[in-house]
Amino acid sequence: MPLDEVKTAVGIDVGLKEFLTTSEGKTVPIQQTYRKTQAHLARAQRQLARKEKGSNRANKQKNKIARIHQRIGRIRENFHYNTAHNLVKKYDLIAVEDLNIKGLARTKLSKSILDAAWGKFINILESVAVKCSVRVVKVNPHGTSQNCSNCGTKVPKTLSMRLHECPKCGLAMDRDENAALNILDRALNEVGLILSRQCVAGGTPVEATAAARGGLVDGQPRAARNFRWFFRWKPPSYCLQLTGENVTRALVCVSDLLSLAIEFPKCLRLLYSHKNTYLAR
Ligand SMILES: [Zn+2]
Repeated sequence: MPLDEVKTAVGIDVGLKEFLTTSEGKTVPIQQTYRKTQAHLARAQRQLARKEKGSNRANKQKNKIARIHQRIGRIRENFHYNTAHNLVKKYDLIAVEDLNIKGLARTKLSKSILDAAWGKFINILESVAVKCSVRVVKVNPHGTSQNCSNCGTKVPKTLSMRLHECPKCGLAMDRDENAALNILDRALNEVGLILSRQCVAGGTPVEATAAARGGLVDGQPRAARNFRWFFRWKPPSYCLQLTGENVTRALVCVSDLLSLAIEFPKCLRLLYSHKNTYLAR
């Protein structure tokens, strides 16, 4: 799907409490059947431990455990496909965390139990999305749960703190929802889409304006946000501000930058770049 046809976008945060939380504040719970089956599995494994190694009974029990594993896998896969289909049906662009980076970034907290299942879910989501030509954008998850989605202030919180409360701008919302908003925001910046703050937070279908394809378009005015993480991304990407009646910011690549420089020589101001060599005013 071309970028300028993207009308609805959503950010998704994976959690320990809920399977996922969207930037619209909706949650998908972890399946109860899965938890029940896990208890079943634990019992079967305890039974195996009591049996003599290599014996007939132990082999039978092993077989039983393998079947439970298979069942868990199938339940989970089914759940992943259902969840992925529901998301793809509703949105044109889906922003998720890139978990490989997360594994490196998060040393303190191990989400590893969830990681395997989450990674599989992302793969399924991507495969379903490709079929329906929906975009899945993976973003660096570093700091998504700590930063304020409204003003960008870092608000440190432990895992037990379920609420995000920003001392600077007063934003108070569920921590996972805040993280999902940050994820969505990063993805939109990465692909060069401009969405108004209201649309992102309000949960209504979003009026999107594409800034890709070499044209900065007059999107809705966008509040000044935190653009720090641009520097961490792979070059070449540049944050631009088109000064005029509407203040518009966009992230573009080099070729777009040059064509824009020719088109708007005076009102283009480069906010950030990787090398600070282009168009610095
Ligand atoms: Zn804030």
